[in-house]
Amino acid sequence: MHKNVKNLIDLTTEVKEKINTIGKKNYEPKIIAVSKTFSLESINPLIDYGHIHFGENKVQEATQKWLNLKGVNKSIKLHMLGKLQTNKVKQAVAIFDYIHSVDSIKLATKIANEQIRQNRSLKIFLQINIGEESQKSGVLLNEVNQLAAECKTLSLDVVGLMCLPPISTDVSKYFSLIKEKNDELKFNELSLGMSSDYLEAIEFNTTFIRVGTKIFGKRY
Ligand SMILES: *Cc1c(COP(=O)(O)O)cnc(C)c1O
Repeated sequence: MHKNVKNLIDLTTEVKEKINTIGKKNYEPKIIAVSKTFSLESINPLIDYGHIHFGENKVQEATQKWLNLKGVNKSIKLHMLGKLQTNKVKQAVAIFDYIHSVDSIKLATKIANEQIRQNRSLKIFLQINIGEESQKSGVLLNEVNQLAAECKTLSLDVVGLMCLPPISTDVSKYFSLIKEKNDELKFNELSLGMSSDYLEAIEFNTTFIRVGTKIFGKRY
């Protein structure tokens, strides 16, 4: 068995054990295998194994790696995780199924227009800058109601909130804030947790975890 498949199976087992331990019922988050920087050689074994959700953070890299693969494997869902420049929206709408990083009305409007042009409908997460960090993208928590309302006007299919909490702090505090807001806005999905904090994210009923390193190894 390829080591990445083994890593994915081990991760799935660990997630299930965590869910049992905390006593949640009828709950299983979907795992996005974050394949950014990794080649098809690393990705193909996971596709052969039947994995569905993959994540990338660069539009050009995603198109090069996934255009053919998605043509052949219609069930694959590709998630855009990084900062999306408005001049890349056209390409992004063509290749991705989900965008986790919508954080402005300008970007939302571009996506909405491009979706009409391409007759596509992506699922959208609004990215929150939960730690109010200057180097990070995302809207502030107190601005998200307005952005959500504007996205509704644009008929965007917003499914939930996403955040990257500050590193080396108690992430639970941030996960709790975003979970509360997600419930208030009545979203069905939630995008929390990466290799370092997916077990904490599960405690907050995240529906997607975004895991790179734990599956593919270290990025260089
Ligand atoms: C790279 C990335 C991940 C995966 O990070 P790992 O620590 O390798 O699991 C998750 N979310 C986003 C937004 C990323 O850019």
